[in-house]
Amino acid sequence: MADVENVYIEAEFAKDWEAAKAIHGDKTCKADLARTDAQRRADAQAQIYADAAANPNASVSFNFVHHIVCSLDVHLEMARRYQGAAPRPFNLDTFRCETIDGKQLDPTETFMDSLTSPFRRVIMDAKGVVIDVSERRFFTGIARTALQISHDECEWPGCHVPSSRCHGDHTLSKQNGGPTTQVNGSILCQRHNRHKERGYTVWRDPVTGDLHIKTPLGTQIC
Ligand SMILES: [Zn+2]
Repeated sequence: MADVENVYIEAEFAKDWEAAKAIHGDKTCKADLARTDAQRRADAQAQIYADAAANPNASVSFNFVHHIVCSLDVHLEMARRYQGAAPRPFNLDTFRCETIDGKQLDPTETFMDSLTSPFRRVIMDAKGVVIDVSERRFFTGIARTALQISHDECEWPGCHVPSSRCHGDHTLSKQNGGPTTQVNGSILCQRHNRHKERGYTVWRDPVTGDLHIKTPLGTQIC
């Protein structure tokens, strides 16, 4: 294990050395390096873990679900900042950005993670009692953006609600085994999204990519 760690530390050292050499040339000495020994060791350990998680032949599956708790205020503020708005202070009364065990997390990293991961809405009352948990995992972030790029308005025939005001959603619900993939995604306005709960059947042809809709009475409308 020490050997593996040393190889990684040497690699971090080589990176610093190359960067310093580009500035100081042959006069480069250890004092010119950007990181201390301790910093390089910490970065080397982080790299070992990152490489282990990225290894498809690892002895354990890294497709684990990690739970992150983030208050709505924090998420909305990070979304504002992500779009280039000037930072506003967080509301410390409602601020939550942590693991499920209460370990504090960086809001930027948490927000970036939410762009590529599904999330669940949890509503708590003033006493912190959970009063509602959404069953559905929403399409969000990059997946949602990708759906919006491919459709500039609601996919329901004749509906022109712009894509930015639509929901990315599962065509075949998660409950019924529908995967969170582009093929199983549809972009529908709020009104038409609710039609799916009112007996309309919505599915996408995996070959043509066309969306098909059947009314509760069985008439196919597209
Ligand atoms: Zn619509």
